[in-house]
Amino acid sequence: MPTKRPTLNQHVRRVCTPRREPRGSAFERGYDRAWQRTRDAVLAEDPGCRLCDRPAVLVDHVTPISAGGDRLDTANLRPLCRSCHDAVTANYRATGRNELPDKRTQNRANQ
Ligand SMILES: [Zn+2]
Repeated sequence: MPTKRPTLNQHVRRVCTPRREPRGSAFERGYDRAWQRTRDAVLAEDPGCRLCDRPAVLVDHVTPISAGGDRLDTANLRPLCRSCHDAVTANYRATGRNELPDKRTQNRANQ
């Protein structure tokens, strides 16, 4: 079956939308065997989320690698649950601060 011709709008959008920079593979982004080992060690030593004490499933860079943070230094790593990690990451993208948004921090403080 012949494919349908794109509409003019679809064609313009395709031609004019800049291609996203490829993120690179996990290995290229520095998540190699050394990272796996470091990450496993951090989670084994400290299995609770540093921010809420739920079980940690991720290891977060306190100072992101993109901001010059050390990739494998345990002083720059903290175990987080998925919920806190997502909130911290979203807040970092919005504000450049790699911490929980103020509202959540206040909620925690009130508990
Ligand atoms: Zn948490």
